[in-house]
Amino acid sequence: MPSAFGTIGWGTYAPDRVLDFRARLDVFVLLRAGALVENAITNWRFESGLLLRLAFHAPNLIVEQGSQRQQVAVSWYSPCPPIVRPHLHCPTCGQGRYALHEVGGIFTCRICGELDYACRHINRHTPQLNQLARLRRKIRADPAPFSPLPPLSSLRPTQRKIFGQILALEQGVVASMGGVADDLEARAKKSGMLRR
Ligand SMILES: [Zn+2]
Repeated sequence: MPSAFGTIGWGTYAPDRVLDFRARLDVFVLLRAGALVENAITNWRFESGLLLRLAFHAPNLIVEQGSQRQQVAVSWYSPCPPIVRPHLHCPTCGQGRYALHEVGGIFTCRICGELDYACRHINRHTPQLNQLARLRRKIRADPAPFSPLPPLSSLRPTQRKIFGQILALEQGVVASMGGVADDLEARAKKSGMLRR
């Protein structure tokens, strides 16, 4: 069978197209952290190790990643006065969103980034992924399955037990990936996106 993680029509549906595993800029988290205050400069570190420098000069949030620089417009709207909520504007479509996700070094909305929720594909067959992400966070590892784990020697005895549970669960995920691939392929064929 052709791989379900290969080319499907206009894009490539691969595990890195799963929104849940991408770095995410959430407007409410930024707001709580004080990153949307005029002239605020915030260093923003993700569990994956990605480091951003955020500078807010209304109406723009400047997102710097090494030498790469992106300008994200921020607007405020009032769904129910006096409550005021911020929006981050996607650099591609201009729509106001509550979150943008990193794709190829650029933060974009879910639609423009062609991202999809993990639960729509993977959790149908591998409900243990949520549990895996939870366990990985407990030992301060990246929640994405199969990403590197901290050295065993750096962990406390209770964390070592969790380390073992993570390895066992990941083996189970590998065993069930065949089902995910079949599911993605069937959906792609049904929608006419994958040539038969
Ligand atoms: Zn967009």
